[in-house]
Amino acid sequence: MADETPPPIPRDLHCEYEERPFRHCTRCGETLEDDRGGFQISKAYKQGECVMEYALCDHCRISMMEEFSQESKKRLAEYQDENVDLHRGLHHCSVCGIRRGDTGVDDFVITGICEGINLLHSIMVCGKCGDGIQELISVKTRDTWRRFVDENFPGPPGEGEYPEIEETPVQSMAVFSPQG
Ligand SMILES: [Zn+2]
Ligand SMILES: [Zn+2]
Repeated sequence: MADETPPPIPRDLHCEYEERPFRHCTRCGETLEDDRGGFQISKAYKQGECVMEYALCDHCRISMMEEFSQESKKRLAEYQDENVDLHRGLHHCSVCGIRRGDTGVDDFVITGICEGINLLHSIMVCGKCGDGIQELISVKTRDTWRRFVDENFPGPPGEGEYPEIEETPVQSMAVFSPQG
């Protein structure tokens, strides 16, 4: 079906630092354009400012997911089944439906799964719902994240500023994964 070509990656999911689309995986440096599995872009905002952003190639996304505890993965998958609408896009929280820009919605995380120059799917999670999701995950899983952040970002990020990783949507459509 011709009208189902995915849209291009929107400006919202470009790299703020370089002011252009992400070109390389933040973790391994691989060129994203050649990535066949679908790469993930996440950006976390605090008070309307982007405080952290990254791109993860398919390989890195999967290898990080593998380090998450089974318990965390299970809880996140259940949470997603029960609470998450994957079709609200980048402007409405996929959990509670609140809109970016509404009063009090200055903290949020946006995530896109992309392939080549196209956006396959995208979600937004508001700060409040993000906090609830963090409570679902184990200490071990949080440590996996902390390590990723320590290794890839200079300076000490504050608590709760880490955007979540997406589960591999191609296989499972599970979107929620731990942050923090
Ligand atoms: Zn990578
Ligand atoms: Zn929400």
